Amino acid sequence: MAKNKKNTKFLTKSIHTGNRIDETGAAVTPLHLTSTFRQPSFSSSEQFVYSRTGGPTIDALEENFAMLEDAKFSFAFASGMAAMSAIFLMFKPGDHVLISQNVYGGVFRLVTKVLNDNGVDFDFIDTTNLKIIKDSIRNNTKLIHLETPSNPLLEIADISSVSKLCKPKNILVSVDNTFMSPCGQKPLNLGADIVMHSTTKYIGGHSDILSGALMVNDKSSAEKITLIQNTAGALPSPFDAWLLLRSVKTLSLRVERHFSNAMIIANWLKNHKKVTRVIYPGLKDHPQHAIAKKQQKNPEGKSVFGGIISFELNSTVNVNKFAKKLNFITLAESLGGVKTLISCPYSMTHASVPKKEKEKLGITKNLLRLSVGIEDVEDLISELDLAINH
Ligand SMILES: *Cc1c(COP(=O)(O)O)cnc(C)c1O
Repeated sequence: MAKNKKNTKFLTKSIHTGNRIDETGAAVTPLHLTSTFRQPSFSSSEQFVYSRTGGPTIDALEENFAMLEDAKFSFAFASGMAAMSAIFLMFKPGDHVLISQNVYGGVFRLVTKVLNDNGVDFDFIDTTNLKIIKDSIRNNTKLIHLETPSNPLLEIADISSVSKLCKPKNILVSVDNTFMSPCGQKPLNLGADIVMHSTTKYIGGHSDILSGALMVNDKSSAEKITLIQNTAGALPSPFDAWLLLRSVKTLSLRVERHFSNAMIIANWLKNHKKVTRVIYPGLKDHPQHAIAKKQQKNPEGKSVFGGIISFELNSTVNVNKFAKKLNFITLAESLGGVKTLISCPYSMTHASVPKKEKEKLGITKNLLRLSVGIEDVEDLISELDLAINH
């Protein structure tokens, strides 16, 4: 757990926050690979005791993470799912939790296969609709978990309206901010209570680290999460924490390029004869474009729309042949790395969702999800064009 310092601008802070210079004078935060820390006496309680509770590298990272979301407290985890599990462990039998219906597949599995018998009641609802949220709230509702934009249909929930609705009822609002990153959306500033990240994605940014984070302002939530983080034992390794500190230094530059490339590609796809549907919150025909424009802002306050595009190829295109023509664009799950990745939700991330359900959601065999990287956008477009016209 680490406290945030608020003063300078985002780009400067992301480079310097948590970047501690020790007595050696090393310009970069040192990496401390140790499981335990020498204590001066049997009765002392030093800042660092044992690495499951925390250590200097994790502590530096958590200071940086708190800064990213303008939070008072932040917590590093070994994966996004470990961070998600910590949120759900805050609740007890008899409590009721609402979750966005198109939530990340791993969260769906956690709730329906692991936590289903633990006494907390979960309901999956359409969180783009405030009336549905209102009608789903019960006396024992303690949390609403939003994923916005959602995967792969990029549906947007209005964080500030949901937070306004929940505050007087003492319902916590948590937001999975993985898709926008802290450079595209600041849920705590919009009224949410907990921000969750799979830092495996944009924050790590190079498809080489698995990790997660939680950020909160409220002391009582922070105390609960501190206990869970220490006790359940899902901290990242110091090495991954050190790599993440390195990643964050370029986060805002990377994300700026991810987002601008995505906007160009979305517009290009929209005009392609063989593309029947383009889902991108930056396009005016996206059903929640206005909300995205209002709540998704970069550090300079400009509206941004993310680096993920879902698009559907028409029936003349064979998606397997399309995939074989790709070169730089890698066929893989995950997102948010510098390299462009493409996946087919129907047979990959959503393979376990029943066929009928997928059809209802509009997740067809020809729907592809592109995580736009930071390569030259012209190279990406010419490769996509070549593959579509295989
Ligand atoms: C990847 C992802 C997760 C899970 O994070 P891991 O780091 O893979 O455990 C959760 N939510 C979203 C939106 C994700 O993209």
